[in-house]
Amino acid sequence: MPNPQYRANDDGYFGEFGGAELPPFLVEPIAEVRDAYAEARQDPTFMGEYERLLRTYVGRPSLLYFAENLTAKLGGAKVYLKREDLNHTGAHKINHCLGEALLAKRMGKTKLIAETGAGQHGVALATAAALTGLECEIHMGAIDVAKQHPNVVRMELLGAKVVAVEEGGRSLKEAVDSAFATYAAKYHEYFFAIGSVVGPHPYPSMVRDFQSIIGREARAQILEAEGRLPNALVAAVGGGSNAMGLFDAFLNDREVEIFGVEPAGEGLEGTRHAATMTLGTPGTLHGMKTIVLQDEQGEPSPVHSIASGLDYPGVGPQHSHLKTLGRVTYVSVDDNETLDAFSTLSRTEGIIPALESSHAIAYTCKLAPTLSSDDIVIANLSGRGDKDVDFVAERLAARRS
Ligand SMILES: *Cc1c(COP(=O)(O)O)cnc(C)c1O
Repeated sequence: MPNPQYRANDDGYFGEFGGAELPPFLVEPIAEVRDAYAEARQDPTFMGEYERLLRTYVGRPSLLYFAENLTAKLGGAKVYLKREDLNHTGAHKINHCLGEALLAKRMGKTKLIAETGAGQHGVALATAAALTGLECEIHMGAIDVAKQHPNVVRMELLGAKVVAVEEGGRSLKEAVDSAFATYAAKYHEYFFAIGSVVGPHPYPSMVRDFQSIIGREARAQILEAEGRLPNALVAAVGGGSNAMGLFDAFLNDREVEIFGVEPAGEGLEGTRHAATMTLGTPGTLHGMKTIVLQDEQGEPSPVHSIASGLDYPGVGPQHSHLKTLGRVTYVSVDDNETLDAFSTLSRTEGIIPALESSHAIAYTCKLAPTLSSDDIVIANLSGRGDKDVDFVAERLAARRS
């Protein structure tokens, strides 16, 4: 159990960040989730069923792989990869989607509802819904429905209903509003499933708990393989769930340096990035106090990353707190460094990483050569890159010409 200073208090505050900053119509539905989760997490039957599905359905434990070729190429610390890409559905998101689906069932709900941008959360949630026998409704901006066609097809094949939102900018922001409006009106039937360690209490703590299996496994696996803890951990940070999942079990190990990697996109000078920790300021977003990229009026800024799963103008409140405490160091890599890392890992190890995960690999490629060959770095390979191959091939060809 990590030191209490790293945890939320009873009101969901990590230091000054977090909480449940909600419009009146959401107070009661979210309080119901808070109370149900507080009970469920103490119930060995509930946690036992969750852990059973992680083994039998997701395929856990995921490998901790010693990337010997990459290590030799970088010439420094030994690099290990935590292979969340090998999970069923190809990424870490299934870990918390299954937990949320089981909690919804326990609460007597019949439907899962969520918004999705690029569709990765929607697909993982639709998968969990199919397995647990729940209905699933995914709200998506009409522009994203057109752009992310393969994921829309996947969600529908899995039995989910995809609602194309035609309001306003027809993008993620409108999809969030639309999903919350439906939820508030019918929360006796619906469970709102958030896709990262963001949103109002209890979601940042609950999603972290469901993802913390990553770090618990990695810690045991590295002790088994090397007889010691790593010198550093590296994970990409969008909302921050794969990162919190890896970091949580190591927070008390002060000798382990921890790095969260954000997208610097096309550079930190303009607006074409999503480097929330580097350039954001304290604010309120999606029901939580956290660090936000925002304008003077407190409106979230438009963001960009080559990895659609990382383009979020906020970050989970526990990350904001860990930054304030100085326990985690937040760094950024840009789109070009990310593309290089994508190619490097594909060619040296025969592993095609997601563009999100490629941010963690890119920083690992900078960090490992600065350390000695006795040192160890664990990077979280949050997902596989099959979804990105056409896009990356185009970008690499454009770069060559
Ligand atoms: C969604 C996603 C991310 C970013 O989300 P976090 O909550 O920051 O983990 C990272 N990697 C992959 C593969 C994803 O699908």
